[in-house]
Amino acid sequence: MDFENRIVAPEFSGEDGDVEYSLRPKTLNEYIGQEKAKENLSVFIEAARRRGEALDHVLLHGPPGLGKTTLSNIIANEMNVSIRVTSGPAIEKQGDLAALLTNLAPGDILFIDEIHRLNRSVEEVLYPAMEDFALDIIIGKGPSARSIRIDLPKFTLIGATTRSGQLSAPLRDRFGVMLRLELYTVEELATIIRRSAEILDISCTRQGSIELARRSRGTPRIANRLLKRVRDFAQVIGDGIITDEIAAHALDRLDIDPLGLDAIDRRMLTTIIRNYGGGPVGLDTLAAAINEESVTLEDVYEPYLMQIGFLTRTPRGRCVTHLAYEHLGIPQPIGQMKDLEQLNLMDLNTNK
Ligand code: ADP
Repeated sequence: MDFENRIVAPEFSGEDGDVEYSLRPKTLNEYIGQEKAKENLSVFIEAARRRGEALDHVLLHGPPGLGKTTLSNIIANEMNVSIRVTSGPAIEKQGDLAALLTNLAPGDILFIDEIHRLNRSVEEVLYPAMEDFALDIIIGKGPSARSIRIDLPKFTLIGATTRSGQLSAPLRDRFGVMLRLELYTVEELATIIRRSAEILDISCTRQGSIELARRSRGTPRIANRLLKRVRDFAQVIGDGIITDEIAAHALDRLDIDPLGLDAIDRRMLTTIIRNYGGGPVGLDTLAAAINEESVTLEDVYEPYLMQIGFLTRTPRGRCVTHLAYEHLGIPQPIGQMKDLEQLNLMDLNTNK
């Protein structure tokens, strides 16, 4: 299996292309789901607008593809300000960040994706910038070096991260607003799919949208990608309309099962079952066994497998649940079921 071309990868890939831009909702009203984050945000936006001030710095966290970039653009739109988009790894030197900051107008938004990947020396420039709206710059070298302070306009930093735990405490503390984005429900994804189908002029029945949604791993980016892939099948093997049958047939052929699991997910689950008796197994051991990076397992695969109650994290490592055994059609040893019951893992069927 080619990891790079994984259809159900939640990260941006070339095939999402320009279409992704056209599918981005532009206002909070158009932004489907994430009710809690939206409610809080609309209060903060309204309050900042009334006071005529910049919005407090916002940290968005959650797995890839859930709409962090989209939401940041919406915030800029609702606040009627400009947004500059960059990412942690793209800001290599302190000077790069200084250049970005000094070019902002009052109220503007600086969006830093993958903010947990900023290097430490760049991060240090960010502290006074976020707190005092000032830049401390050292001029000259050696004994004649001196520091001067430059005032910055009052701006809003929006940081996005898949791993808020990796953010340093001083950086995390400087965000006034922290919003966690959750995986979407099937209903919400089906609504997103129907909205995208309308924009892209694709015919998709309600049942068709639900079938696609069920296999989209709670992630709008994947939902939009599956919609585009299945459109081709609908045109070739059907009459161009995406029904539930066409969606199911097409996704089966693409090896994406009724719950959105692909070969890699199944390999991960069967490895835990066959090699480690269902778990617990440590993340790094598991990553090595399936030849993946621990970070990828944790950020990309696990959130969905946990959401559907197939996988649990215990202090001793990862365990699969009876739901995963059932789904894979592997009988679960009786003794093990008792163990899991004792660990209270049977209650984890929290599929929203
Ligand atoms: P992230 O920055 O979290 O990786 P993006 O903001 O780039 O995710 O979102 C990926 C795609 O998913 C966008 O192109 C957008 O079309 C779609 N999307 C995300 N969230 C929503 C939403 N709440 N409603 C509708 N579409 C969404």
